[in-house]
Amino acid sequence: MAQRKNHLAMLGLLVLCAACSPNEKLAPVSRGEPGKGDAGAEPDGGETGTEDDLFAELPEIAPTASGRGGAAATVDLRGTLAAIEVLKKGGNAVDAAVAAASVLGATDPFSCGVGGGGFMLVYLAADNKVVAIDHRETAPSGLEASAFYENGAPIAFDDLVTSGLSVGVPGTVRGWSEALRRYGTLGLKDVLQRAIQVAEAGFAVDKTFFEQTGRNLARFQAITSSKELFLGPDGEAWPVGTVFKNPDLARTYRLIAEGGERAFYEGEVAEAIVAAVREPPIEPGSTLNVRPGVIAPADLQDYEVRVRPAISTTYRDYTIHGMGLPSSGGITVAEALNLLEGFDLETLTPVEVLHRYLGASRLAFADRGAFLGDPEFVEAPVAGLLSKDYADARRDLIDLDKAPTGAAAPGDPFAFQTDPSPSPGGGQSARRGDAGPNDAGDNETTHITISDAAGNIVSYTCTIEAEGGNGMVVPGHGFLLNNELTDFNVPSDPAAPHPNVAEPGKRPRSSMSPTIVMKDGKPELALASPGGSTIITTVLQILVGHIDLGLPIDKALAAPRISQRNASSGSSDAETAFLGTPEAEGLEALGHVLSDANTTGGEIGAATALRFNGDGTVTAVAEPVRRQGGSAMVEQAP
Ligand code: GLU
Repeated sequence: MAQRKNHLAMLGLLVLCAACSPNEKLAPVSRGEPGKGDAGAEPDGGETGTEDDLFAELPEIAPTASGRGGAAATVDLRGTLAAIEVLKKGGNAVDAAVAAASVLGATDPFSCGVGGGGFMLVYLAADNKVVAIDHRETAPSGLEASAFYENGAPIAFDDLVTSGLSVGVPGTVRGWSEALRRYGTLGLKDVLQRAIQVAEAGFAVDKTFFEQTGRNLARFQAITSSKELFLGPDGEAWPVGTVFKNPDLARTYRLIAEGGERAFYEGEVAEAIVAAVREPPIEPGSTLNVRPGVIAPADLQDYEVRVRPAISTTYRDYTIHGMGLPSSGGITVAEALNLLEGFDLETLTPVEVLHRYLGASRLAFADRGAFLGDPEFVEAPVAGLLSKDYADARRDLIDLDKAPTGAAAPGDPFAFQTDPSPSPGGGQSARRGDAGPNDAGDNETTHITISDAAGNIVSYTCTIEAEGGNGMVVPGHGFLLNNELTDFNVPSDPAAPHPNVAEPGKRPRSSMSPTIVMKDGKPELALASPGGSTIITTVLQILVGHIDLGLPIDKALAAPRISQRNASSGSSDAETAFLGTPEAEGLEALGHVLSDANTTGGEIGAATALRFNGDGTVTAVAEPVRRQGGSAMVEQAP
């Protein structure tokens, strides 16, 4: 990748150190409720107003764009615009991804931010290889699995969600720093400038932001710092149209811009994180039981990013690169694809295709639940799970004529291990255990897909886990802490072994599935989605829709979703738009039980994708409807 350039001069961003006024309630803009990313009522004092300032006049939001040069798709207009801005000024896809993610930390604070972590998959065009930057949150060194039990019984999941106990040591800032150092052309100081400006100048609250605040209302009201930032003087969500400013976040970003990653992992930010975790800032009189956690200053200081190889499989004419452990995403997608490869999906009816898709996903999830965990603690049978022979042996468990009942048992991938060497870091053998909670939350997390003119690609999923993460804003610093440690399994029997139980320094198993697809040695697609464990099925359904059913990538993203994750009930979650369709009726006739996803989390997966077309153009696609739709842009429109 290109040499580092003169950072600030190249970006040409003027950051105004405006006196930061508190959030102002403005009348909703005259067009009615502004859509996500709608310029709305722009505040004064933030925009530079120069001719090449892309933010001076925000364009209309669009979920699809085709053209040449680089491209970007995110859930938010400003996030996408920040990426395009960096690309136009000569930065590469990694620079642009960090710029976009940091802006989303301001505009989409309930989904991602410096209080969380993520997985960034990078295709390095010059080397023709895919690498993965794992900046997953990590259990603090003082956290034993027993911390999740009281009186011999697991602490209720909902209680862990808002607690110091579930906060993992955040990885995002070190992840950004490592990504830029290894593969970027700019430094943190350069790429954070737009996020500083957006946080400081503010933006109009839109319907999604308003609703996300509303779903967090009870706990924000109970936590002093969260109440101060996200609620108005009446203790309610800021109404649509309010200019929402976050000067504390701007200051945090500025500290990181000036001091680098150490300004986050040591000093006042680190101290504030430790204090919030160990003594949650509870509103006087609140009855919410927010248990303290055990993060210590050394946990932050010692946090390490892992740069890992991507995991890869072939699917028909394609090579699929995904995220390996500690995410289960890439392995589970790959196993399901290997199972599906044995069916000639092109020749089948939509119901027959979906029946096989659900069956493959069910079996792959059975293995996910039993075998996968942090590779530094668990010797997971990854080679076996990825083996085509294993898929061939397991495929017959899909009854072609009727839906299965109940949950599938895991298979025996150990018999198919071609590489007996231990996983990186070695550790104890994988142990079978229960399949874990069948999480179906869909409003959290976000996925960013970006490419540059040199052909580099970033497929980056970042998160703070639940929508609103832990619910705790770090006082004085304007960002929410994650509750990522709820991704550990907490078996009802504390002595029950499981590869994904909490251990000091361990990373909880994730479902995040950033994906890059190659064909004939060239990039074809980059994609992924938020959505907890439904991320895996969303990626799978999009790949089947596009590759096997021939749907254009925007249609594959928009299609109503159905998700089978080996629930003990045997049922599959379906979006409301899927229920009542001929496909739904056909599946029900085969015995499938479909649950309305609206009862378990609403929409399934606001994905983003890039498609690299044969003529040298690129199509960027964001979700058109879910979460009010995202934003896709290209560097050079045709
Ligand atoms: N905690 C989730 C995971 O790592 C984040 C993804 C999501 O919930 O959307 O799988």
